[in-house]
Amino acid sequence: MQENKGKIIIITAPSGSGKTSITHYLLNKYPGLCFSISATTRSPRGSEQHGVEYYFLSVEEFQSKINEHAFIEWEMVYEGKYYGTLKEELERIWNDGRVPVLDIDVKGAIHVQGEFPGKCLSIFIQPPSVEELKRRLESRGTETPESIATRVNKASYELSFNHHFHHIVVNEQLDKACAQTEDLIKEFLGW
Ligand code: 5GP
Repeated sequence: MQENKGKIIIITAPSGSGKTSITHYLLNKYPGLCFSISATTRSPRGSEQHGVEYYFLSVEEFQSKINEHAFIEWEMVYEGKYYGTLKEELERIWNDGRVPVLDIDVKGAIHVQGEFPGKCLSIFIQPPSVEELKRRLESRGTETPESIATRVNKASYELSFNHHFHHIVVNEQLDKACAQTEDLIKEFLGW
């Protein structure tokens, strides 16, 4: 496991591609992987809790962390909503002898890859089509029509970045996409 210290797995995709389901599958199956909890200024959705899905911060708290250089990367992913990966979070996971899994947006993913060359495995989860992605977002039932429209517009743009990453996994069928992603990670970590 020691040889995997400092390694990072990045799962990136437009919102609604199924990357969170794939990430959950991996985390449940491999205790050596650990979800990297991002900080965000968006409000919790449904049953989300501080310190589980995200560290929910106020804009002021988030900005002071930016000033303290506490982030590996941060982005305003949606208008007025900040998201970022804390250096401390990655340290916590590495010190625990595990490998962090980052579920982050495309720009953040490109940034982290640049910061840790040779240490990252980046996987882009591609939805079969933008129409299918819209349908999935609608069926979640947690998004407003405005939020769906914002996410669909952003997704079309993000899809054009797929070639920046080590691998593209098309999520046509969730179980197949999970298995493909799992194989890539096992190979990267020598498991
Ligand atoms: P959601 O609001 O649906 O939880 O997340 C919105 C988007 O922000 C998703 O694409 C998610 O992967 C991304 N995201 C979550 N955490 C981070 C982060 O720390 N940095 C960046 N750049 N994006 C993030």
